[in-house]
Amino acid sequence: MVCGERWLAESCVFCNIAAGGVEANVVYRDELVTAFRDLNPQAPTHILVIPNEHVESIAHIGDHHPTLVLRMMVVANRIAASEGLEGGYRLVTNVGTDAGQSVMHLHFHVLGGRKLAWPPG
Ligand code: AMP
Repeated sequence: MVCGERWLAESCVFCNIAAGGVEANVVYRDELVTAFRDLNPQAPTHILVIPNEHVESIAHIGDHHPTLVLRMMVVANRIAASEGLEGGYRLVTNVGTDAGQSVMHLHFHVLGGRKLAWPPG
């Protein structure tokens, strides 16, 4: 089990996806990171990249995690290439409820395949 606390692994949907206990359309998995298609895609390509370990958000990344975030970014970049997003893509992470974070397990959204507006809402 990748979650330190049993209750957390059972209650966190992304911990369960990382552990293989909840079905998801997984496009990439290694010992640190899992990536899967978003259930409610906001663009032709909408993939979530998560750490297998439970970290609530980017605001909870401590000194012991710097290589984990870098790894997530490398994976996101590889996924964008394999999805054919040569025209560009957006890498977004929402932090906290004001930003619209609805799943309290760190995730990067990889969005692409259409023109994306800026600024976001
Ligand atoms: P955020 O609002 O930034 O926390 O993003 C959470 C994202 O997770 C949303 O885009 C949801 O559509 C997506 N999501 C929630 N549950 C699942 C799931 N079981 N499988 C895939 N995507 C999910």
